Amino acid sequence: MQAKIEELKKMFGPRIRENEPMSAHTTAKVGGSVSAYIDVDKKDDLIRVVRFAIDKEIPYRVIGGGSNILFSDEGFEGLVIKNNCRHFEVMSMSGRITSQQMNIKKAVVYAESGVMMNLLVRHTVENGLGGLEYHLGLPGTVGGAIYMNSNFPKRDAYVGDTLQTATLLTKTGEIKQVDKSYFKFAYDYSELQKTGEILLSAVFSLTPQDKKELWEKATEALTHRTTSQPKGPSAGCVFRNISLSDAIIIKTPHKTTSAGYLIDKSGLKGKKIGDAMIANEHANFIINTGNATAKDFKKLISLMKKEVYDTFGVKLELEVQTVGF
Ligand SMILES: Cc1cc2nc3c(=O)[nH]c(=O)nc-3n(C[C@H](O)[C@H](O)[C@H](O)COP(=O)(O)OP(=O)(O)OC[C@H]3O[C@@H](n4cnc5c(N)ncnc54)[C@H](O)[C@@H]3O)c2cc1C
Repeated sequence: MQAKIEELKKMFGPRIRENEPMSAHTTAKVGGSVSAYIDVDKKDDLIRVVRFAIDKEIPYRVIGGGSNILFSDEGFEGLVIKNNCRHFEVMSMSGRITSQQMNIKKAVVYAESGVMMNLLVRHTVENGLGGLEYHLGLPGTVGGAIYMNSNFPKRDAYVGDTLQTATLLTKTGEIKQVDKSYFKFAYDYSELQKTGEILLSAVFSLTPQDKKELWEKATEALTHRTTSQPKGPSAGCVFRNISLSDAIIIKTPHKTTSAGYLIDKSGLKGKKIGDAMIANEHANFIINTGNATAKDFKKLISLMKKEVYDTFGVKLELEVQTVGF
């Protein structure tokens, strides 16, 4: 690996940082050092770095906000590319604007994959463009949100809903345009999880709507997030919610599919291992109360799985992405 890092340094100079701790780049603030790390803020640069890694057979991982990923204490033998490509713009509108009335039907918004979702949501809502409003307060980037098909389940709103087209970088370094159907979006799922392709940019098709109403919806989502989610450092929800059929079989109240409900009812709220703790506000979150290690997180994750299985006979599946676990 060292020889490959030297090649990276030759190509990208002091921008390559060796032994960079992932605790500094993930919201859970855990994770050991990776062999090499680079920040990129231009799309062409992102393409160049990934192609170089492919060519030299250097294992790589692109991260955005690091808000749904946990690296092990041993880190990662390879290159972590932090995506800060943050350009976005309203590209075009379809419909008619006359002196009498504005009759815009659709607006097309282009965003590079490192754009922070929260900023994009604020901008589109403020400009009266509907479609992303329920993602106000969602941490992370467009790339991470499309990869995860991040959501606001209370309103059945998914980031993939308004995606029109996207540009990807394939595992062989080719650039390809795809449309929404390519992603096979489902709850917490996009095809990128299978293909390992990198999202370079996304085009969303938004609908002009009353700005005041959009802000009301956005505020509803933000308030829900801030009141139901814990404040401490975390990687978001640890587990996916269960299927409706499982919820019916185990007779959860109001057929709730909430993994947090099952963890809570397994008596685990507030359970602590090392400095990692199952949040009191929301049992599907593990928070880092100080100097938690990835190992502490891992042990709690195993405990949550076991207790829920023992209590309900349901196998929880991880939502959070793990590296080296
Ligand atoms: C406090 C808190 C609240 C949260 N609330 C919600 C919520 O309400 N709803 C919800 O759905 N999620 C929520 N999350 C989870 C998380 O914020 C989302 O999944 C988010 O969309 C992840 O984006 P990210 O940029 O941080 O991704 P990262 O954590 O950086 O990466 C996640 C995965 O995406 C991959 N990835 C990142 N960028 C790209 C790219 N450009 N191309 C291909 N793959 C890429 C990474 O390799 C990794 O596998 C929350 C998290 C926290 C910490």
